[in-house]
Amino acid sequence: MSVQVVAAKMAEVELKDVPSKEVTPESPLTPKTDDKGIVENESNAVVTSSTTPTTEPTVKAGDPSPGFLTPNPIKMPQASAMKRIDPQQNGGEAFVNRDGTVAEAPRLKKIQFADQKQEFNKRPTKIGRRSLSRSISQSSTDSYSSAASYTDSSDDETSPRDKQQKNSKGNGDFCIKNIKQADFGRREIEIAEQEMPALMALRKRAQGEKPLAGAKVVGCTHITAQTAVLMETLSALGAQCRWAACNIYSTQNEVAAALAEGGFSVFAWKGESEDDFWWCIDRCVNLEGWQPNMILDDGGDLTHWIYKKYPNMFKKIKGIVEESVTGVHRLYQLSKAGKLCVPAMNVNDSVTKQKFDNLYCCRESILDGLKRTTDVMFGGKQVVVCGYGEVGKGCCAALKAMGSIVYVTEIDPICALQACMDGFRLVKLNEVIRQVDIVITCTGNKNVVVREYLDRMKNGCIVCNMGHSNTEIDVASLRTPELTWERVRSQVDHVIWPDGKRIVLLAEGRLLNLSCSTVPTFVLSITATTQALALIELYNAPEGRYKQDVYLLPKKMDEYVASLHLPTFDAHLTELSDEQAKYLGLNKNGPFKPNYYRY
Ligand code: NAD
Repeated sequence: MSVQVVAAKMAEVELKDVPSKEVTPESPLTPKTDDKGIVENESNAVVTSSTTPTTEPTVKAGDPSPGFLTPNPIKMPQASAMKRIDPQQNGGEAFVNRDGTVAEAPRLKKIQFADQKQEFNKRPTKIGRRSLSRSISQSSTDSYSSAASYTDSSDDETSPRDKQQKNSKGNGDFCIKNIKQADFGRREIEIAEQEMPALMALRKRAQGEKPLAGAKVVGCTHITAQTAVLMETLSALGAQCRWAACNIYSTQNEVAAALAEGGFSVFAWKGESEDDFWWCIDRCVNLEGWQPNMILDDGGDLTHWIYKKYPNMFKKIKGIVEESVTGVHRLYQLSKAGKLCVPAMNVNDSVTKQKFDNLYCCRESILDGLKRTTDVMFGGKQVVVCGYGEVGKGCCAALKAMGSIVYVTEIDPICALQACMDGFRLVKLNEVIRQVDIVITCTGNKNVVVREYLDRMKNGCIVCNMGHSNTEIDVASLRTPELTWERVRSQVDHVIWPDGKRIVLLAEGRLLNLSCSTVPTFVLSITATTQALALIELYNAPEGRYKQDVYLLPKKMDEYVASLHLPTFDAHLTELSDEQAKYLGLNKNGPFKPNYYRY
């Protein structure tokens, strides 16, 4: 029996297991039990491995399933955003915190390139130094949201590692920046909850049932308000959680404080050194009398650490849930080498995660990232977007809606034709490079914008990247003696040519939205719900259902995650009639598409 079937079963048992008063059978969104129970749809095979043919886990009819949820329509108010003031005054960015205090970004400074050595194993204490520190872990610095946290106004330079810390209940099993920020962090978490309806629905379901009872989850993700909602949900489902940050910059200190105050063992603060980064991970894992039995990872660093330092722990670990491209890649490598010793769920490639992260998230955050860094007016501006994949489509749609004149470059005739049909002019970069006001790369490729193009851009042209790697724009080629770099704001450099022409380079060519803006909570809700369901599935799976391989969540689960988010919009889903289901050869409750379907 395929995982697909397991998923179908899971969603179905969910309903059986839910006390009847909590079920809303009248809701068109509620997954319903098929008359015949489980229907196999082998075209929807979902287990993947980079090398081996699909491995299908086995499950017996009647196996216990962790399912217990059903969506409740909830109307959510919008989360409010941070307000920025007077950004130019000190040459840096200024933010009004919710408590009325003002947080400043670094002041204007010249960037030195010749002797700019990376600093390792030193504890940075101020933002200025943080910008020079990095982790050897690619994923730990790949993405972070500098604007997500505004607790940097703290002048406390003492490393959290050197502080004695306790929460109000006397518990000291955590290491964070400042426990006094807990109330402030709690407000952030409450705001995030409003945009994370599926996790909140999961919690409601958990009131009578604890599908993660006995689970000891060790996590390594961005520590933000959204992660806090996930952690508190896992806890409500019965899990014990210990957590570290997967990125040295991304921790919202006030959120970490709220979690620590709430009894979570959190080891993270914004601006960790590389040494701190691994120390925090170790503190999560290495505790006398406590051993994790589930891993929730984002980037693979935690998994890697356990493999390296505590391989015996895998005897008790039931599974790994991994979110990132990098981490998933590492898992497939382990699998290929025959070294993966527990089952792993690849959350990154879930349909809903991919679609929402790439298309919808970028459609919103491209404008946010550009606005926060440059205050540019979009109407009438000429923009060239390189790559018309999911990310490119999102960027183009947003800019077009704002009145920009958008050009697209593509190498793939199919995507190129899509761009044409969507009303964009398909060009080669050299045809428009002299005239455009904004250049955005979204190809996942390297050297898309090379020095030759940078030389030909007009004065004031804004250059940024939305793709994963920072090599789409050949930033290295700009580090030459004749060009002057001026840091004018946090994440904004003016690169000045000898004749006075300057281009505006954002985030030094790293992902613009993850570096300079925030990611919509609703998008993170989808990922977090998928993570929670993957943990539940792996934790409750009977022996033998999953082997030592990398699995995709079944499409049925993807559909379920999506359905849990529909009530937010008061959306009314149409149900197939029996006749229609028969005609299409589908189970009325899904999955509704084969795996090869392109949404
Ligand atoms: P995609 O494969 O759907 O699209 C990339 C497109 O770029 C393809 O259509 C490809 O043909 C085109 N391309 C490749 N080389 C090109 C070149 N030299 N010139 C012009 N076009 C070229 O991928 P995607 O989902 O759109 O993701 C693109 C990148 O963005 C990836 O690196 C991905 O990891 C990253 N990403 C970023 C975010 C974010 O929040 N910023 C979110 C998701 C993914």
